[in-house]
Amino acid sequence: MTEKRTVAVSGKNVYYFGNGTAEGGAHMKELLGGKGANIAEMTNLGVPVPPGFTVTTDVCTYFMEHDQGYPDGLSEEVEGHIRRLEGDMGAGFGDAANPLLVSVRSGSRASMPGMMDTVLNLGLNDSTVEGLAARTGNRRFALDSYRRFIQMYGDVVMGVHTDHFEAALDARRRSTGVAQDHELGADDLAALIEDYKRIVQEGAGRSFPQDAREQLWGAVGAVFNSWNSPRARSYRHMHDYPDTWGTAVNVQAMVFGNMGDDCATGVAFTRDPSTGEPRFYGEYLVNAQGEDVVSGIRTPRHVNDGEDSLERIMPRAYSELEGLYKRLERHYKDMQDIEFTIQNGRLWMLQTRNGKRTGRAAVRIAVDMVEEGLIDERTAVRRVHPEQLDQLLHPMIDPKARGEAVATGLPASPGAASGRVVFAVDRAVAMAASGERVILVRTETSPEDIDGMRVAQAILTSRGGMTSHAAVVARGMGKCCVAGCSDLQVDYEKREFRAGTRVFAEGDAITVDGSTGTVYAGEMPTVPPQLDAYFHRFMEWVDGLRKLRVRTNADTPQDARTAREFGAEGIGLCRTEHMFFGEDRIDVVRRMIIADNEPDRVAALREILPMQRDDFIGVFRAMDGYPVTVRLLDPPLHEFVPKDPEEIAALAKRLGVDAGELRAKTEMLHEFNPMLGHRGCRLGITYPEIYETQVRAIMEAACAAADEGVTVKPEIMIPLVGMREELALLREMVERVANGVLAEHKQEIPYLVGTMVEVPRAAVTADEVAQVSDFFSFGTNDLTQMTYGFSRDDSARFIRAYIDRGVLKHDPFETLDTVGVGALVRMACEKGRAARPSLKLGICGEHGGDPASVHFFAGVGLDYVSCSPFRVPIAKLAAAHAALA
Ligand code: PEP
Ligand code: MG
Repeated sequence: MTEKRTVAVSGKNVYYFGNGTAEGGAHMKELLGGKGANIAEMTNLGVPVPPGFTVTTDVCTYFMEHDQGYPDGLSEEVEGHIRRLEGDMGAGFGDAANPLLVSVRSGSRASMPGMMDTVLNLGLNDSTVEGLAARTGNRRFALDSYRRFIQMYGDVVMGVHTDHFEAALDARRRSTGVAQDHELGADDLAALIEDYKRIVQEGAGRSFPQDAREQLWGAVGAVFNSWNSPRARSYRHMHDYPDTWGTAVNVQAMVFGNMGDDCATGVAFTRDPSTGEPRFYGEYLVNAQGEDVVSGIRTPRHVNDGEDSLERIMPRAYSELEGLYKRLERHYKDMQDIEFTIQNGRLWMLQTRNGKRTGRAAVRIAVDMVEEGLIDERTAVRRVHPEQLDQLLHPMIDPKARGEAVATGLPASPGAASGRVVFAVDRAVAMAASGERVILVRTETSPEDIDGMRVAQAILTSRGGMTSHAAVVARGMGKCCVAGCSDLQVDYEKREFRAGTRVFAEGDAITVDGSTGTVYAGEMPTVPPQLDAYFHRFMEWVDGLRKLRVRTNADTPQDARTAREFGAEGIGLCRTEHMFFGEDRIDVVRRMIIADNEPDRVAALREILPMQRDDFIGVFRAMDGYPVTVRLLDPPLHEFVPKDPEEIAALAKRLGVDAGELRAKTEMLHEFNPMLGHRGCRLGITYPEIYETQVRAIMEAACAAADEGVTVKPEIMIPLVGMREELALLREMVERVANGVLAEHKQEIPYLVGTMVEVPRAAVTADEVAQVSDFFSFGTNDLTQMTYGFSRDDSARFIRAYIDRGVLKHDPFETLDTVGVGALVRMACEKGRAARPSLKLGICGEHGGDPASVHFFAGVGLDYVSCSPFRVPIAKLAAAHAALA
């Protein structure tokens, strides 16, 4: 974000446009705002634009900083511009016989649609309205313009709520017995104007200003003040726009689309904003003012489609519009969103700006424009925002659909899905088996819920953050998830959840939008993801530009294959514990965990070994030629055993042990701070046979895959290391077992042994750790947790409040905290590489798929980022943007 600019208190604060030349241009968005800069640009291009002038954003900043005061000389400058405008228009501002009317509109450097104020028809009063009536020969039009002006000005400038005016309008309609506003005659409107003036007097405690200059300064101040309206502030907050930008004010001669049947007004896109197809797409209304098109009071018609299209009804104006849109698009080299008005058959352009578009349209337009020779590949890549690709990779709620939002949580895994609410895993599995689409709703998920998650269309939790189990696993599955939705109260016993006053029982339909975090009542239509030829072409350019490699976090052969389809260049994190939860093996794993002695544990491990080996063979096959980083067991062991007494009893029966004893054992596994407890390499040191078995399985799989002709590149990773000594000890063990397996198979497969850097101490002593590590992979989930001291699983309870109160800008589990956690990453890179120049550096925390974080990782010189399969294209695009920056 840019620094605050020094404000010009003297010198030029107003810029003119009109008569074919403008003092500004498209490059001056900071000073003139987007609207003002583009109006100036269009004027210079010879596009018909009503003349006017722009008061700069600097004046807005001054106004804010000086208690709503203006810089010296501004009023003279504005006066000079009014005189110039009067000359160009051949009319006088406030002139009763021949009045000049203006619009007063906001415009900051980035478009903030509908967030700030606008006043139209300014300059009308009790006498100029008669002049307008006489000159246009249309008294009804003049009166209607005046009553609209009083309503708008009364609301925006004088603070009289628009509802009061609407009520008076309604009363007039009823007393005259008409259904529509446009059926009110001139005399009715004249009476309505008197009603309106009374409403202003009562509501504002003063009369409606009759002086045109007083009206103008009132409107300018109101537009500046609207920069700080609550809705504008919250929009800025949402888009990260600084409060210091300010808005410009555009004062422009009015043109009228509502003077009769040879008048019209409309909005259009130079290409289809939803699909990107190169076809002109727009809507218009005959005899209407701009706001009528968007307000939904009348249904607009298509500009070029159907019997009543503009093309048919006003062919001359349409063909001029066609010429202009093509010219504007060629000039800006981007899809434009334009506003136009036709006054008595004559076309005027009111606005042009780069049009907002869906992800699909963004890719298609970028590719088409390269083919049309308008832009080069680098520009095309720059044009698409990484988050826009997300829309292509997941189903989305149909943009045309409207739903009833009942709750909002964290947008933990993108995409959208509808289904029936279900709370228990076995019910989820049963309902899914009978062909039902289900949404699993839990307070939070644990590894035991995996089967329910697998069959669900989406996952919704009331607790947990962006790196909670639900979020991480859903992302890995490419399944939509809303986590930490604290608006929900989940009641497992009643099998229902509450969201405000609404209650949803098992079987009720809801829709979950994991891209926004919104939960809707009922089913909503979705549109499927589309990976078409445009996408593949686009990704080729992305691949050609980026320097950072992109791997994936995948735990199963299936995930690995999906990730390859999305372009992953290896696996950066295979969480082996996820392999332990398969139905065919979880009980063996549990037997291993509750074993009292080493021989029992080893016996169970012997059964686990071939299953893990088969999984690894599948993963190596899917990643033929690419590196595969396998992490040895990480979570605390209690995660693998049931807590519920009934489940414990059932397990005891299956394992043939005493239920009481089993319960006692599971209780012994209890820890007060499991995330800081007996997990990661601490397990490997206390139960070396677990890690030994895993290393054996990895290396036997590598030998088997190599025998099939697969090129395997295993990388064995030790989690949660904080001290060189931990890794040194475990490295020795890994090498002993791995070299033993290779010798048995008479194979020579190069492999690496490295560590995750996820405990702050490992980062601080990275030079020491690097002495015994071939690579570092930053586990930024744990590193964030331990650096802030925020629990990964419970911080959703306060992070929202932190963001709302400005303590945090972002959830640090979503976007890397480059200042604190990032400093540790940077230090570890520098110290690690200094100690071992060949050290490979990567990141496998959830930040690996977050575009802003990817920029940071590219900057500190990592070799790769690793993210969930469905985020691979997004990370690649972010990496290309980083390379282009
Ligand atoms: C991490 O901590 O960033 C990481 C990738 O490991 P996990 O999320 O499995 O703890
Ligand atoms: Mg971790």
